Amino acid sequence: MTNGEKARFTGTMLCGSIWACPTCSAIIRHERAHEVALAIGNHAEKLRKAAADQWQAEHEGQRLPPELMVSDSFGNYIFGTLTLRHDRTMPLAMTLDAILKGWTKMINGSPWQRASERWKIRGFVRAIEITYGVNGWHPHIHFVMFLDGDLDDGQREAMQQWLLDRWKTMVKRVAKAYKKKDGNPYNVAPNDEHGIDLQFKSGKDAGTAAAEYITKIQGDKGGVTLAQEIARGDIKNGRMGSVNPFQLLDSGCLGLSDFQREDLWLEYWQATLRRRCITWSRGLKEDMEVEELEDEELAEKADELPGLVGYVVPNRVYKDIRKSAPETLADALDAAEREDWQEVARLLPGGVILTDEQQDAIADGEAKPGDYLPTMSVMV
Ligand SMILES: [Zn+2]
Repeated sequence: MTNGEKARFTGTMLCGSIWACPTCSAIIRHERAHEVALAIGNHAEKLRKAAADQWQAEHEGQRLPPELMVSDSFGNYIFGTLTLRHDRTMPLAMTLDAILKGWTKMINGSPWQRASERWKIRGFVRAIEITYGVNGWHPHIHFVMFLDGDLDDGQREAMQQWLLDRWKTMVKRVAKAYKKKDGNPYNVAPNDEHGIDLQFKSGKDAGTAAAEYITKIQGDKGGVTLAQEIARGDIKNGRMGSVNPFQLLDSGCLGLSDFQREDLWLEYWQATLRRRCITWSRGLKEDMEVEELEDEELAEKADELPGLVGYVVPNRVYKDIRKSAPETLADALDAAEREDWQEVARLLPGGVILTDEQQDAIADGEAKPGDYLPTMSVMV
């Protein structure tokens, strides 16, 4: 099916990988962005309501001032980035492990409890972003912290320093575990000056910005199906010489040979397998009334995306081609994007090109694509 711009398969199983699948990744990131924006909206409303209740308790019988009627200006947030020093000798599996373990240590224990109380940290959402460049793999963490109140300049400075110190301490603590084949340790270490970057934001506009900050990938080459809806790529547009993993699939990327790109992609695929990309602090989703959904469940929302089905083919044809010549499926998508259904039919033989009436019937929910298959094909 196609929406006139991008084509995709419908009625197939979705892998649900936020890391390695251009189709699922775009859908999941889009949905995760919604969740973050929703949480920030609900957080602001909770803060407004608390302030309004307090005001009313102090001003019985009086009319609520307008600034306490809308939640637009409520809520304070910190956007942060954590990085590690990295070089080309370091395997991604190692730096990714180090950054995740460092983070886990940072946000646990009584020092973190005290910090949360001191700086009114309600919770956070954190995401892993991975890029590749001249210095090898560069996994880093983006996080958005929800604060229940504002911080003055002194508090901000103190918090930044505390976070940087704690990040450095925790990375040094986990770093000892990573040794080269010859037994010498890798130089896993925090960046001395730029190990942490914090930006303080407030109000409703922070919501959209935070959603993008957490869920976007650099350069945005992953958005196959939702390119229009997700106007991404503007915030973190590709810095020179550094690409997102999907870009590694483009021939000639960074001047790498096909073999190098293949090795890098497989390394990326393996290192990220079963890792969680975006996580929320304990209880934050529940607090902010955001439903708990797995990546696979979100990917299924693909079937709700608009578009018209132009060609329908028996399941076994798709399955056979996926096994024998999977690149044909990509060629078929290319042809479908040009609405060249004759070409689609040539690539995936045994199906039916649908008429406008049939396309509309499917879009209106009056028919299913399979209804138009020749009877022989639907028989088992
Ligand atoms: Zn997928």
